[in-house]
Amino acid sequence: MVTNKIVVVTGGSRGIGADTARLFARNGYDVCINYLRNDEAAQKVRSEILDFGRRCIAVRADVSIGSEVASLFNTVDKELGTLSVLVNNAAILMAQSRLVDITEDRFNEVLRKNVMSCFLCCKEAVNRMSTKNGGAGGAIVNVSSGASKSGSPGEYIDYASSKGAVDTLTRGLALEVAAEGIRVNAVRPGLIYTEMHASGGEPGRVDRLKSKIPLQRGGMPEEVAEAILWLSTEKSSYVTGGFIDLAGGL
Ligand code: NAP
Repeated sequence: MVTNKIVVVTGGSRGIGADTARLFARNGYDVCINYLRNDEAAQKVRSEILDFGRRCIAVRADVSIGSEVASLFNTVDKELGTLSVLVNNAAILMAQSRLVDITEDRFNEVLRKNVMSCFLCCKEAVNRMSTKNGGAGGAIVNVSSGASKSGSPGEYIDYASSKGAVDTLTRGLALEVAAEGIRVNAVRPGLIYTEMHASGGEPGRVDRLKSKIPLQRGGMPEEVAEAILWLSTEKSSYVTGGFIDLAGGL
């Protein structure tokens, strides 16, 4: 049984990742917030977590680049200790476009940022957690999207495809390491109020579409964070290779 409580949240400086980092801290975890550019946002979350009385480091690293991921996890080893939970949350979304208007470079970039990042971080985590390597086990939670099922026609098929790959990686890895003390699951958020929709060119997207959601409202990042925390703790000890949809019924 895993007794250490150390979590890495990729993309932990804003949105769902930031609320996840805060919730883990409130539940007794020491936290590594990873981010790409926004130092100010990362430092703000870090200082909130320090105020909760937990240890916290904010580490800038592009998680789609192997050398930066290796350095991120080595920093966690040195400064926090043995990792018990990885939340693969960092991802990007580009402007709404039809498939015919998406360039080869853009499609590659979205796959690299959203899928390669998950693959690289999972490798580092499994190497540390696997009981086969003398590790103590652990949990990995991947943040996928409802887009993996809808396909996001007319908006971002590149992004939806990347999340389909994250779902498949989640399922395969869960089965591969199930006997090594590691559980691997994913959450699939729907329309959540974060700044990501501005990156897609429509900051008000959730409000425009909320009447189509069976629960008649957009979701809050902390509602996603609750599911991520549950999938990471012993409360979900018999769940692996699973998915929780947080999409208001969509
Ligand atoms: P967000 O508000 O845009 O925040 C993205 C976070 O990821 C930021 O902390 C950003 O760092 C970081 N990041 C991006 N690329 C990175 C990289 N290569 N390396 C390290 N960090 C990187 O996003 P969000 O809406 O919270 O989304 C979080 C996750 O939920 C994503 O996987 C997204 O696909 C998924 N999701 C979101 C929604 C939604 O409606 N919001 C719906 C379904 C799924 P900086 O602050 O430094 O830029």
